[in-house]
Parts: sequence; structure tokens; C-alpha cells
Amino acid sequence: MEQDLVLVINSGSSSIKYQLLDPESSVVAASGIVERIGEDDGRIEHHADGETTERPGRIADHTAGLRLVFDAFSATGHDLVGEGVRAVGHRVVHGGEVFYQPTLIDDAVVAAIADLSVLAPLHNPANVAGIESARALLPGVPQVAVFDTAFFHSLPAAAKTYAIDAKVAAAHGIRKYGFHGTSHEYVSGRVAELLGRDSAELNQIIFHLGNGASASALRGGRPIDTTMGLTPLEGLVMGTRSGDLDPGIVPHLVRSAHLDIDQVDTLLNRDSGIKGLSGVNDFRELRRLIESGDQAARLAYDVYIHRLRRYLGAYLIELGGVDAITFTAGVGENSPQVRADALADLARFGIEVDQAENSAKGHGARRISPPDAPIAVLVVPTNEELAIARAARQVVAELELGRS
Ligand code: ADP
Repeated sequence: MEQDLVLVINSGSSSIKYQLLDPESSVVAASGIVERIGEDDGRIEHHADGETTERPGRIADHTAGLRLVFDAFSATGHDLVGEGVRAVGHRVVHGGEVFYQPTLIDDAVVAAIADLSVLAPLHNPANVAGIESARALLPGVPQVAVFDTAFFHSLPAAAKTYAIDAKVAAAHGIRKYGFHGTSHEYVSGRVAELLGRDSAELNQIIFHLGNGASASALRGGRPIDTTMGLTPLEGLVMGTRSGDLDPGIVPHLVRSAHLDIDQVDTLLNRDSGIKGLSGVNDFRELRRLIESGDQAARLAYDVYIHRLRRYLGAYLIELGGVDAITFTAGVGENSPQVRADALADLARFGIEVDQAENSAKGHGARRISPPDAPIAVLVVPTNEELAIARAARQVVAELELGRS
């Protein structure tokens, strides 16, 4: 195997997504997912050389899951331990105030990521489990953490500050951190490439619309605002998350519905958003329900679009003018309807969508506004794994340079 491949690991509470790829060429040698870790019906699905292999069975923990990944690589001719990979890149959700660069992992870094679990109790413990397993199984390979919050570290004070008692906020790390940063950064760079412009010259609005969803406003390649906050719950309506709501709803639920705080957390993170309003969280199913005349599904969609347009308007004003509006991730890349409705009737602001370009089948990056429209509207597939692999490769290259 070539020595320049990077293994990217995205470790969730009960799953591990992975890719082995070449950060230069972006060619993916293999990829897959381990699901339902800790349950009886666990499984691994591994893709390599155009073939998919699947293995069901109980997977006790993340180390057992990662061992299965290594076995799957061996079975398809990639000996990760023997021949080695250049680096392992880990997606880490919360870097807090501490981490805002891709960071070489050692014991102290792992401990600090674990300490940040108080800010991301659903995510950071799983990230730590993935890191510890990978370090145990690939002891000689440099491991690099790439943080979802990093890109938004330098948000202006007025955008990142919540208007609560400043002493309480400072004592508890309460500020807007923002998430999906790796995606927003990668996509904004691709937009500049596609437009043949320097990022530093561009004002951009980016909508990352997947299961989780967030928007960002970027001036000269740097974010000046984003919708997610202390946690990934704030902002847009998502598959299962509420996004913005009156904070008074939380004490009301505790007092009136007698929910405890964990039940409120679950309600807002897992049983709200499109799912809470319509019963389904996948946009393809939502569309089918709407077409069958389901009123709840129609309302869920309308609320989703209403929130998107609210932030579009806010970010247009914050930026004072925009060069490009871009859609990415599962819904953003695949739903012409969402793109058309989000930007409908805004020609007076220079925002237009060409219907034929918007509906054309295609998976690559593309412009969907008329060529003479003042604002470019684009669809750009995100690639967080590639961005993480490149960041990890860069850290390792700098490390080697320092040693030589
Ligand atoms: P995640 O946030 O889990 O990474 P993705 O970016 O993969 O999510 O987006 C997943 C979502 O994308 C699905 O839940 C589904 O709603 C939506 N999606 C995927 N394909 C399509 C499609 N062809 N049309 C509309 N929505 C789609």
C-alpha cells in the first residue's frame, strides 16, 4: 500500500464511520460504517475495490468495532497495521476555547477533549472512545484531531456573545461556538475555486443542510456568524432537532409537562424538528407525505423554509452584500425544491435561481443561478473526510519537517 494514505475516523456514540483516502488525489481506497455498537444487532459495512461486504453480529465497544474495521481491510488486501498509514484523522465535535487548529494527539490532548464533554455530552465521549481505540490499534501512527468548532473560533464578539449574566457565561464556557466548521470551510474554498476568485474577496452565505443543518456568513473567507451555538441545537430546523426556540419553553416544559432536564434534552435533540412535526425525519419521506396531502408534513416543510429564509435575510444584512449563496450536504445537494423555495421571489435582491439548472440531474459542484445574475447561487458537495485527511496530512508533514 502507498504510504501517503490517511485513515479518517468519525466516531459517534454507537457508530464509527471511516474512510481510507489519499489526501492529494482525493481517491478513496476504502470506506465503511460500523453501526449499533453495544447492541446485539451490530453490523459493519465495508466498501473497497467496488465491492461491499457486510457482517452482522454483536460489537461490544469502539475498540471491538475498530478491530472489525481492520479485519475488513485485511480481507480486502489492505494491512493497516503491517504496511501502515501516514496518519489517522479524527473528527472531534467540540474543541471549546482550547482547540482551534488541527492538533496532534497525545495523552494531554485526549484528556482535554474528554474534559470538554461537559459542552458536548452526546459527542465528545464517543470521539474519545474512537481516538483511544485507534491509538491502541495503531500505536506508531500519528493521530490528529480536527475540530468541528475550529473554523468558528474567531467569530466577532457581538456574534458569539449570549446576552446573559457575563459572569455566569464566563464561568461555564457559554458562548456561540458553531459546528460543521470543517464543511463550511471546505465548501467556501471550493466556491472561490469555482468562481475563479480569491476567498479574501468574497462575501458568502453557506447552507449546510443534512440531518443536522447550519448556515454561515463569511466575509473574506472568515466566518462572521453561524446558526449553531453552544451546542448543535441552535439555529435552523433540522431532521430531529428544533433549532431556535424561546428559551422560556425549557422551564415551561419542566414545570408544566414535568419533564426532567434529560427528557427535555432528548425531546429537543431527537424528537423535534421535521420529525417532531411530521413523524419522519428524512426529506424524501417528507416529500412523499406532502404529495399524499399530509397537512402536518406540509407545515413541517413550511417551518423549515421559513427559518432558512429568516437567516438568509439576517446574513444578507450582516454582510451588507453577498457574492455567493451555496447549498451543501444531503438535503442541500439533493433537493431542488428546498433550494428553489429558500430563494423564491428575491430577484429584487439580486438572488435568482435558474429552474432548469436547479432541477438538472447532477452530483458535482455547479452554478444554478442565471449567468448574468449579480449573486452566484451554487450547489457544492461537501467532503469533510477529505478536509480532515488534508488537515491531518499537513500536521504530520509539519511534524516531519520539525524533526529533519
Ligand atoms: P448527516 O447530517 O447525517 O451527515 P447528510 O448530509 O448525509 O446527513 O444528509 C442526510 C439527509 O439528506 C437525509 O436525512 C435526507 O433527508 C436528505 N437526502 C438525502 N438524499 C436526498 C434526496 N435525494 N432528496 C432529498 N433529500 C435527500
